[in-house]
Amino acid sequence: MPDLAGREAPAASQPSSEAVSGPVVVLIEDERPIRRFLRASLTGQGYRLVEAATGEEGLTEAAMRQPDIVILDLGLPDIDGLEVIRRLREWTAVPIIVLSARGQERDKIAALDAGADDYVSKPFGVGELLARMRVVLRHAARSSTETAESTFCVGDLHVDLAVRRVAVEGREVHLTPIEYRLLTTLIRYAGKVVTQQQLLKEVWGPQCTEQAHYLRVYVAQLRRKIEADPARPRYLLTEPGVGYRLASE
Ligand code: CA
Repeated sequence: MPDLAGREAPAASQPSSEAVSGPVVVLIEDERPIRRFLRASLTGQGYRLVEAATGEEGLTEAAMRQPDIVILDLGLPDIDGLEVIRRLREWTAVPIIVLSARGQERDKIAALDAGADDYVSKPFGVGELLARMRVVLRHAARSSTETAESTFCVGDLHVDLAVRRVAVEGREVHLTPIEYRLLTTLIRYAGKVVTQQQLLKEVWGPQCTEQAHYLRVYVAQLRRKIEADPARPRYLLTEPGVGYRLASE
């Protein structure tokens, strides 16, 4: 199978140092054109790609290769993608990015609940996938060193977590305690999607996971304070039907 190409990449025949030292990606995807497209784009970015066309094959490769990222199609010919996530999560915290069909919000939420880190909707641009990959690699690196950042900056938004100061374009913004907790929760997952349920649970508590209107109200308030144009947010982005994402770049 062409999937095997480049797996071993012996150093002698592999002149590019990037190709032997970049992050290892296990791609579990049954659609050959998508594999071919990702092989070209990811290896071009220095990632080392291991391909699997079925869930079982993917689980084996993940165990053997100890990858830095798993990219997983949810619709596989042998086992359900959600099952692949659950089985990976039995033994590894490797970042998992799911490829899912556009409009399948329930599948995305189920994948995130099962332990996936993020998703991209098919059809996707490679730039979008690479951005998601950078985010999960950053998060993985940060959690392995256990050093929390004390400031968060993106664009004109600056948050100093040590002194609880929020500024936009250099001007201090005053947030209510709940607005601040909502913002800092999103900062903890910056760049990654956070489901409505997860935000409700972390900001308001486990008894409030059905109160989606709290979230809508406070997201609107927070946007009025931090966004130049709250109707077209630059920082606090909506993931329709799933949750919210704080821009991280
Ligand atoms: Ca598929």
